[in-house]
Amino acid sequence: METVKDYFGSLVFDDRVMKATLSDQVYASLKKTIDQGTELDISVAHGVAMAMREWALSKGATHFTHWFQPLTGITAEKHDSFITPSPDGGVIMDFSGKELIKGEPDASSFPSGGLRATFEARGYTAWDPTSYAFIKGRTLCIPTAFCSYGGHALDKKTPLLRSMEALNKQALRILRLFGNDTVKRVTSSVGPEQEYFLITKEMYERRPDLRFTGRTLFGAKPPKGQEMDDHYFGVIKPRVAAYMEELNDELWKLGILAKTEHNEVAPAQHELAPIHTTTNIATDHNQLTMEIMQKVAAKHGLVCLLHEKPFAGVNGSGKHNNWSIATDSGQNLLSPGATPYENAQFLLFLCAVIKAVDDYQDLLRISVATAGNDHRLGANEAPPAVVSLFLGDELSAVLEAIENDTPYEGTKKTQMKLGADVLPKFNRDTTDRNRTSPFAFTGNKFEFRMLGSSNSIACANIMLNTAVAESLKIYADRLEGAEDFETALHEMIRKTIKDHKRIIFNGNGYEENWIREATEKRGLLNYRTTADAVPHILDKKNVDMLTSHGVFTEAEIRSRYEITLENYCKTIIIEANTMVDMAKTQIAPAVSAYASELARTSAAKKALDSALPCGYETDLVRKLSALTDRIYDGAVAVENSLLSLAAAEDIGGEAALIRDKVLAGMGELRVACDEAETLTAKRYWPYPSYGDLLFSVQ
Ligand code: ADP
Ligand code: MG
Repeated sequence: METVKDYFGSLVFDDRVMKATLSDQVYASLKKTIDQGTELDISVAHGVAMAMREWALSKGATHFTHWFQPLTGITAEKHDSFITPSPDGGVIMDFSGKELIKGEPDASSFPSGGLRATFEARGYTAWDPTSYAFIKGRTLCIPTAFCSYGGHALDKKTPLLRSMEALNKQALRILRLFGNDTVKRVTSSVGPEQEYFLITKEMYERRPDLRFTGRTLFGAKPPKGQEMDDHYFGVIKPRVAAYMEELNDELWKLGILAKTEHNEVAPAQHELAPIHTTTNIATDHNQLTMEIMQKVAAKHGLVCLLHEKPFAGVNGSGKHNNWSIATDSGQNLLSPGATPYENAQFLLFLCAVIKAVDDYQDLLRISVATAGNDHRLGANEAPPAVVSLFLGDELSAVLEAIENDTPYEGTKKTQMKLGADVLPKFNRDTTDRNRTSPFAFTGNKFEFRMLGSSNSIACANIMLNTAVAESLKIYADRLEGAEDFETALHEMIRKTIKDHKRIIFNGNGYEENWIREATEKRGLLNYRTTADAVPHILDKKNVDMLTSHGVFTEAEIRSRYEITLENYCKTIIIEANTMVDMAKTQIAPAVSAYASELARTSAAKKALDSALPCGYETDLVRKLSALTDRIYDGAVAVENSLLSLAAAEDIGGEAALIRDKVLAGMGELRVACDEAETLTAKRYWPYPSYGDLLFSVQ
């Protein structure tokens, strides 16, 4: 029988295939591009294209595509077949180096936030040789970046690669200062834990809200939800197990290191985590994972919901972005070292992250801002919208000792002077798993937990990499010019702790008290919604920082601002329209029909015997009639709020109106409909209930 070892990566043009199919010279040259980011020669591209074509054809591929991640957040592809006519009337299967490295999708309808004037409708895609090509169905997919002809990034991969480069550059400067002359490259690594829901296709089809918006816009609380906590890590049901098995197989064939899977807190909720890998590959893999999750579900008669909040009152889905930085020799720079000297270096990198998270709380919040994620952040299940950083008691004590020049209790009362040989060795603290922190140190990596389940992880990692690069740059500028390295280092670490300790919080992030302390006492930011957060990407300090590292141009930042808010507005407008439609054409008629049945019953009873009690019917008719009016009025109010959007002057104004007016109206409409659901006979209710949906998969 074929084992996982045999088929792992069988659909990937990976290092094993390259070694076996490329000439030594082409292989060496490509490898250098991959490892060190050197420019690629067109003759090398020809060699690679030829080998790739042969390999793809041997796997049954007929087409190729440049696979990219436009700003919509999903992936895009445009298939071209390999066929080229030959003079004898037949075809040959052709694929050139030029086709490998550059493509021109007719991309005029991808969002560009004003970057691509309509007369210059086409952008182009450029091969990213650092992420392996792979086969999906019968198509060879080539991971690419997507740019305008003016050179502006129209995708998520380009700035991600730039941010990795910025981090590499600054981290190398620091390592050189610590005497490390051998490291060539520093790379950030990510392991994203992906949460999702599975429901049956049959139930899904009967809910227009799920079909149009990915989440339920109505639904009364079921008698049983997640209160028993009996789903978390529970036994996986056979149908789900079969799904996970096939999903793993498909991911493994694509070289994706799917590792752990388990049930999550909510009924029907599950999680999949891969082994961590280089950030841009992890990003490509996570996009592919989300796509394959949905495809495999369809084969099993299921639907995989990736929305952040498919069901009100039930935990939503997030994505934990486990992030670390390591050298090409495999040293994790966020791992406390074995010697005091290594520890000084570790503390400096740790401080760089602390400073980055405090200085750029807003950018981290913005990087996860979507209409869907707004339902999660701060809803007692996910971290709050306030960014803070968890270090654990031991590291916090170490930092406190350094700040105050007091003895550190964890060891033999050594003074925490950071001179190389006085800094004590300390054990890393992996015991305390604070699950409520938005940004937690977990022993040798940070776990950024604010991402929504459908977010591309590119955005969060662009901001994280660049903000940390900025801290490191400030440190390197200072240390390179220092007279005495150790004194300067000690002072800088102390200063970071003093200036940025407000961001460190080891307590329960779900408590109301914390939000008050964070905002009132510590002055931390609390951008509750996307509409509140996103405009701050244009703040001067953010634009200056991002442009100074070459990660974005000013125009690119503005385009992202516009596209993010446009997405927010469009998403909620579609939800509002769906709600109005459901309420007017199905819910109100159902409630009214049931009330009229009750009224007929009561009239019939009275006709039979005027003394017959009709309290049940009349009371309900009264309540249902009042609710029908509320539903109708509520739907009209939502429609009017949508009309009022025309008055908005720009996208920022529209987003604010949506936040203040449209969402409020949708909330009221939902309350009326959900109440009606609890009073209406099930046979009249047009949709499967929460109970039906959440417990549909056996
Ligand atoms: P949790 O307890 O948070 O659920 P898991 O074991 O499910 O932890 O997931 C941890 C994730 O962190 C995995 O994707 C794993 O590969 C990743 N991870 C582990 N070490 C590192 C590291 N050094 N850098 C980045 N990610 C890492
Ligand atoms: Mg986790």
